[in-house]
Amino acid sequence: MSELLICTDLDRTLIPNGHQLESRDARDLFWRLARRPEVTLAYVSGRDRRLLQSAIDEFSLPVPDFAIGDVGTTIYRIDDGEWHAWEAWAKEIAADWGGNSREMLAEMLVDIPDIEPQESEKQNTYKLSYYAPADLDGESLAERIGERLAEAGVRSSVIWSIDEMRDVGLVDVLPAGATKVHAIRFLQAHLHASPSRTVFAGDSGNDLPVLTSGLQAIVVANARDEIKQAAIHATAERGAGDCLYVARGGFLGMNGNYAAGILEGVVHFIPEARSWLEIE
Ligand SMILES: [Mg+2]
Repeated sequence: MSELLICTDLDRTLIPNGHQLESRDARDLFWRLARRPEVTLAYVSGRDRRLLQSAIDEFSLPVPDFAIGDVGTTIYRIDDGEWHAWEAWAKEIAADWGGNSREMLAEMLVDIPDIEPQESEKQNTYKLSYYAPADLDGESLAERIGERLAEAGVRSSVIWSIDEMRDVGLVDVLPAGATKVHAIRFLQAHLHASPSRTVFAGDSGNDLPVLTSGLQAIVVANARDEIKQAAIHATAERGAGDCLYVARGGFLGMNGNYAAGILEGVVHFIPEARSWLEIE
């Protein structure tokens, strides 16, 4: 039995909190997958610890083995329901900010127009987050912020995404190494999970770096078309098209949205998983 690492985004990927419908059996079948002894389950989310827990409770999700929270800045290990922040990861990413605190970074950005700090519970030691108008050129804004910080010797990654339900832009300033990709690879190395036994699923702009990283990745069917196109383009360009699967529905009569899309993609990459899911 060889280990299988299943990493998934939560909002609008596993959690059916978008506009599209979820197939009736999708989450029950996802539970079935999560219960397999060879599966290690990791949630990869912008949510903090408290919001991760409330998502698990509210949407009856399996408790994961690991949770990469705060857009990659924290990794929790969950043992018998106890959550432990993983110190080795904090150490891995701390150097990028060159000894500057989040508050010091905020000070460097105080005159950048159109951005407004998010609530304090959405900030943490290595995550500085802002709101911005959804119709802004977010990529240029992110670039501008990154350049400003680089002038002060800070290695940052600045991520732009859109909260569709609230129609607001989100800007996350993180240590350059605190990416979801790096966090997943860190986890993969720790678990000795091979590339062919690691899968990630996502739906939106802040998942794109993982979707196009060369890790085996799934875009759920409910993702916006421009995300699907961007992922297809970027992976094709680097010759990694085989590492991307865009769910379209049809697996076990389901629609490919949310959990159904994750399962469809898992079976694409790990064909043996089909027999775990088909109801006898
Ligand atoms: Mg999402």
